[in-house]
Amino acid sequence: ENRLVEIKNLKKYFPVKLGLLKTKNVQAVEDVSFYIREGETLGLVGESGCGKTTLGRTLLRLYEPTSGQILYRGKDITHANMLPYRRKMQIIFQDPSASLDPRMTVGEIVGEAMDIHNLYGSKKERQDKIRTILEQVGLNSEHANRYPHEFSGGQQQRIGIARALAVQPEFIVCDEPISALDVSIQSQIVNMLEDMQQELGLTYLFIAHDLSVVRHISSRIGVMYLGNLVELGESYELYKNPLHPYTRTLLSAVPIPDPRKSKEKKRIVLEGDIPSPINPPSGCRFHTRCPYAMPKCAEETPPFLEHQPGHWAACHLL
Ligand code: SF4
Repeated sequence: ENRLVEIKNLKKYFPVKLGLLKTKNVQAVEDVSFYIREGETLGLVGESGCGKTTLGRTLLRLYEPTSGQILYRGKDITHANMLPYRRKMQIIFQDPSASLDPRMTVGEIVGEAMDIHNLYGSKKERQDKIRTILEQVGLNSEHANRYPHEFSGGQQQRIGIARALAVQPEFIVCDEPISALDVSIQSQIVNMLEDMQQELGLTYLFIAHDLSVVRHISSRIGVMYLGNLVELGESYELYKNPLHPYTRTLLSAVPIPDPRKSKEKKRIVLEGDIPSPINPPSGCRFHTRCPYAMPKCAEETPPFLEHQPGHWAACHLL
């Protein structure tokens, strides 16, 4: 198998000031390891605050990792000069309106990305390319002279996608790209991302807060809880046979299309809020909310192990 991106024991802590003298760390990403195969979509899910966005950004080195390793095509890029990799590794943000400069036209936004990497020699070539990319994402070439605020949320996200595609990337972190959008246009954007992937051979890390979004587009899914990756497996397998208690609670919240079956499935509601990543619970971080917690769970961190081929989870029950 061809690993495009790989992280090993990745940690990202942010210092926060508590009072005048005390500084503590937010342990946003704690010891996460996985790889993404070339051409696949790896879905990454978890509640807000679980560290998935921080993980996506650290993996791109938009945040510097606290420790651990990041590999791209097998090359260690943890401390490398990122300029050559920026082109290959792009991001699509959750809130398109906040991520587009309101003073720039759409053409300038897309063109700027190209210019940073000196992609096109002549002005004409550059102009043509901007036009082609806008058409590729379902906008038209006249849109190049307009400003982001003139567009709807869905169209703004198309502009964000055009900007990412402008540099001919291989890998894109899609950071909740549809969460801020109207439900009616969410599937259009997802379909477009899928078409792009087919056409351009892209690899995605697709971040979402619920499993129903990533289900259809991901070949594999990772589940995060409070900075930890708690389960990872093929999408089909993870749905059919979730191993981790937290994954089961997430799955129980996914509506099932067949109402006759809905009676069989009971929604599991977790007690309490997600604990603070400044003082995460000892042992298994999920033990304060887990319906199956045992004394051992508060003492020992469960190892992340492969329980079936390709299906990993971290839980003492397994
Ligand atoms: Fe629950 Fe314990 Fe498993 Fe953690 S290790 S998920 S607390 S049973």
